[in-house]
Amino acid sequence: MKTVLITGANRGLGLGMVKYLTHCKKSQRIIATCRNESEELKQLSEKNHNVTILHLDVTNFSGYDNLTAQIKNIVGDQGLNLLINNAGITTKFTKLGLVKTEQLMDNLTVNTVAPIMLTKSLLPLLKRAAELYSGEAVGVERAAVINMSSVLGSIAQNDQGGFYPYRCSKAALNAATKSMSIDLKKESILVACMHPGWVKTDMGGKNAPLDVDSSVAGIFNTIENLGEADSGKFLQYDGTEIPW
Ligand code: NDP
Repeated sequence: MKTVLITGANRGLGLGMVKYLTHCKKSQRIIATCRNESEELKQLSEKNHNVTILHLDVTNFSGYDNLTAQIKNIVGDQGLNLLINNAGITTKFTKLGLVKTEQLMDNLTVNTVAPIMLTKSLLPLLKRAAELYSGEAVGVERAAVINMSSVLGSIAQNDQGGFYPYRCSKAALNAATKSMSIDLKKESILVACMHPGWVKTDMGGKNAPLDVDSSVAGIFNTIENLGEADSGKFLQYDGTEIPW
């Protein structure tokens, strides 16, 4: 049985991805991690036996070994096929004169350090899936890491300034994605970063043009079609490539 792990799965896009997979990928095991499960996530796991909730504050780095051991217990020798580093935070528009050290550090910790260190911790399980499914083409059905980035992390498309904590943390995540894609090429593990669009969630706000379901459907349609040549790309939910 193939396994997908999504961080920050209690609300917003993470919850939307779990919901989508319970409809469209009934045969896959879904590991939904969160700090505290929402009622909606709890109900999803009660109704769908393939959904397992595990607790993870992504800033609790000392808990990663334990999490990896728990996942190994669940998947046995089947490995992990897809890791979606989705959990993220932002700080409202910050001008240079107002930015605080703490905001920069917090955004970097959650949006950059955590996805790198979690991928490192789960790497043996991703490698196992890549080996086990060696008959399949490189892609999310075999072994892949998708880092949820943002267009605000694009240096080329920054024409507004500000947003120092968020922009820097996502630009750094993009740099990490590129390195991972090179480092994990020989293991046949695909790595890409994804801008979900501007989406109506607590982070995106009410004025966002996209709803969660449309963004999530686009994200999965895009990532399911990725092949070896797409590893290391920065893509938008609809498949459009975003300049670094
Ligand atoms: P939300 O604010 O709606 O949800 C954020 C999720 O991240 C929550 O599940 C939250 O959990 C989790 N999270 C935050 N900090 C931690 C932590 N320390 N440990 C574990 N989980 C944590 O955001 P979205 O769903 O909109 O965003 C999801 C991803 O998409 C993010 O990476 C974001 O940067 C990116 N993105 C979103 C856009 C949008 O328009 N919505 C646009 C571009 C990118 P908790 O409930 O415990 O806080």
